[in-house]
Amino acid sequence: MSTKVSIDPNLCYGSGECVHRAPSVFEFVDEYGVVRPGRADSGDDPRVQEAAEKCPSQAILLTE
Ligand code: SF4
Repeated sequence: MSTKVSIDPNLCYGSGECVHRAPSVFEFVDEYGVVRPGRADSGDDPRVQEAAEKCPSQAILLTE
């Protein structure tokens, strides 16, 4: 099973770190980071895992 990735919109404050690190998975919508449509199964991507570690507000969630 692939690891799921999501962003908690209540925690994200739009720093842009995730979009910078993994632009194929994350994008900006209304100045906040979101997971691109169809990319929610990208949690095993090392760039996504690094983005989750480096998100300054711990808004990126990885779940099995
Ligand atoms: S790195 Fe975190 S706070 Fe910054 S845009 Fe992405 S989810 Fe939001």
